[in-house]
Amino acid sequence: MKADEFLVWFSGVGRLSAEQRREVGAALANLDGGLEREGETETSAASGARDKGAKRGRRTDALGTTSHERVEAQGCPHCAGRAIVAWGRSHGLSRFRCKSCGRTFNALTKTAMAHLHKRERWLDHARAMIEGKSLAKTAELCGVHPTTAFRWRHRFLGAPAADKPKKLSGIVEADETFILESFKGRWSDLPRKARKRGGPARHPGLHSDNIPVLVARDRRGATFDAVLPQDDSASIGAALAGVVTGENHLIGDGGKAIAAFARKAKIPFHAVPAPGKPTAEAPHLHINNVNAYHGRLKQWLNRFNGVATKNLPNYLGWRRALEAWGDQATPQSWIKGAIGNGPYQQLSL
Ligand SMILES: [Zn+2]
Repeated sequence: MKADEFLVWFSGVGRLSAEQRREVGAALANLDGGLEREGETETSAASGARDKGAKRGRRTDALGTTSHERVEAQGCPHCAGRAIVAWGRSHGLSRFRCKSCGRTFNALTKTAMAHLHKRERWLDHARAMIEGKSLAKTAELCGVHPTTAFRWRHRFLGAPAADKPKKLSGIVEADETFILESFKGRWSDLPRKARKRGGPARHPGLHSDNIPVLVARDRRGATFDAVLPQDDSASIGAALAGVVTGENHLIGDGGKAIAAFARKAKIPFHAVPAPGKPTAEAPHLHINNVNAYHGRLKQWLNRFNGVATKNLPNYLGWRRALEAWGDQATPQSWIKGAIGNGPYQQLSL
């Protein structure tokens, strides 16, 4: 690189995020010969090993440094053991061996992403998901059939759908929103032939049904959501058990279900007098953040022209992951989430 080009390039170093610094570090370590010796480095969640890993550069494979990060974060997928040694490589992925149970595995073992083909196109697929591309566009971008893109979408969403904060802190805003129930079936926004003219709708009259979705968000931005079987206090209680407790202060818009849940669970509850309008005496008691989240969620969902109800939790996880990664959402971080090392597994929110 020419000296003046280098100056321009290097001037951006100070603005790199922690994640970007790690990526650059790993790339440079690889250029310098990397650490390709097998069976030598012991990986574990212990911070000592993490420091050692950082000093020596992360070993990369077809998933970049994601394999090692996941194994460090979660241990053995068979027994959750933490004494793990590198165990060569297979199909382009690092293998590991657990000293406790003696079994070998890679970073995809027991994840929704195991046995998916064409791994070299995953980064393109992840990028399409971050940008919220339609299935047709995603398929084109990745050079796969739309049915493959659909399968990938939901494999990629298996882990993010479950990656929710276990506990919210401090003041928690909560409110329900309603998503139009869709009977589109499996194919979601897959392009398809229009129904023959005059053909009857399959479920006439049912399209106006709404699915209640609960969103609870604390003031640090940690967001919990759930599709509720019913909009009642029992369903809300089941969803929020352990997530919002007596240590929190819960704010709602005065809807009966959330208020009844708070009363039963002995959680200090504040009803906002008029939705979105806190009183002058208590300006911090509002649910503006949850309302704004609902707005972004619904606007973002519009692009899919209706999602099948059974897939709704996946789409909620998708939106939640986008919000939680924020501007750290890179194809690499997205794949990290898809193999079960999503934002809520990493951040101590
Ligand atoms: Zn094990």
